[in-house]
Amino acid sequence: MHGTDGFFRGECNRWAKCSILTPAVSKNRNQLVRLHPSCTTSKSQTCSPSRNPGSPALFGMDAEALAARMVEAGEPAWRGSQLAKAFYRQYITELSEITTLPKLLRQRLAAEGWQVGRPQITQVFHSADGTERYLVQCQNAQASTETVETVWMPEGDDGETGDSSDADSPKSSSAPDLDTESRKPTSNAEGDLPRRRWHATLCISSQVGCAVNCQFCLTAKLGLQRNLTAGEIAGQVLAVFDRHAIEVGRDRVNLVFMGMGEPFLNYDNFMGAVRLLVREVGLSPQRMTVSTSGIVPGIERFAAEPPEFRPKLAISLNAPNDAIRSEIMPINRKWPIAAVVDAVRQVRLRPRERITFEYVLLGGVTDRPEHAAEVARLVRRSGLPAKVNLIAWNPGPGIDYSTPQSEAVEAFRSTLIDADIPAYLRKPRGRDIYAACGQLKRTVEG
Ligand code: SAH
Ligand code: SF4
Repeated sequence: MHGTDGFFRGECNRWAKCSILTPAVSKNRNQLVRLHPSCTTSKSQTCSPSRNPGSPALFGMDAEALAARMVEAGEPAWRGSQLAKAFYRQYITELSEITTLPKLLRQRLAAEGWQVGRPQITQVFHSADGTERYLVQCQNAQASTETVETVWMPEGDDGETGDSSDADSPKSSSAPDLDTESRKPTSNAEGDLPRRRWHATLCISSQVGCAVNCQFCLTAKLGLQRNLTAGEIAGQVLAVFDRHAIEVGRDRVNLVFMGMGEPFLNYDNFMGAVRLLVREVGLSPQRMTVSTSGIVPGIERFAAEPPEFRPKLAISLNAPNDAIRSEIMPINRKWPIAAVVDAVRQVRLRPRERITFEYVLLGGVTDRPEHAAEVARLVRRSGLPAKVNLIAWNPGPGIDYSTPQSEAVEAFRSTLIDADIPAYLRKPRGRDIYAACGQLKRTVEG
């Protein structure tokens, strides 16, 4: 099992240096990740899905935890539901604005040092294609400059196409729409204009930086700075929903856990965020996709999650065989392709659900015709209901790969389609603002 600090853990209490994860993170040894539910000896401070100790933030707790907090404060338990509704449905970020609570209680909570503490968007970069990249500051940030990145893509990036979400419907290319059903202005509408109905994809980070040293990815250059808490992961969603006045159940927003970090190396907090988003925000896990570089113990835990809380799964395959994959993704030396596929087979898919294999095309390295034929064989042999999402490599400073020729991309896709494997090309969104896949690195230049 891997810690997030470049150390490999053989036994629950023994650590040895691991060369697979980036050495730049060895200073963060206290941030260990517990992958096995049976391992109870870990003292990970990052496994708790609620706030960090000592922090006065209420955001991140579910209704039950908030109810317990209220009872401790001598209030009835149902005050917890009022708080949860205020944070997760009404996007309120100030205690003083929660008018369902008595004024005296609001004042008392504030006087005791409590605050909502939801992550806040501190900077917005606008792409010519409508994509927005946000720097989000977390309440528990270790430094005032520490931010994580979240990306909003109106109309999505075709990443969900063909995987049984209704992003496949013809409407997927027509948003944001005017709401032709009601044509009623809402409180969020500008003036008397009808309210726009969004169809978008939101890409969320699970860690600050990443310890999985993929050679083609800019986030890897940061190393792992720290894990995000469940509240910090879900908080990115709420901050963006607030910005766009999202109405859950009416606007269609797909969530992809494909921003900075490896979600399965921050498993408890990632799943804590999913549960919060399902239970308290009212989102469907079928509108969420988590992408992993192939952390086998994480995939095995994921396979055991109940369907009502299990997002869809994407695997960053990125290479046609172990030799090339180990070169570009050193994590493959620990968990090779066959081990990853075996673990994925344990996931009980819903009707029409498919596994997504993501495949980054690196010019001359992974985009050749023989690679496409090999990927087709690999996917067929896996026996999994699957589709392949091709991603042309997005360049980043200091990374020595090249973007594939468009003819090579098309030929690759045709080979897969000819082999009856659904294959889609993910649109590069927000490249001009460093918002595209693998470009997230807290870049402050727009
Ligand atoms: N850590 C997870 C999720 C975040 S990365 C994972 O690796 O799956 C999300 C996707 O972006 C992955 O499929 C990854 O292979 C891809 N990616 C990383 N760097 C990229 C780049 N420079 N260009 C295109 N895709 C990239
Ligand atoms: Fe981490 Fe994913 Fe980037 Fe690999 S591709 S370094 S796992 S964020």
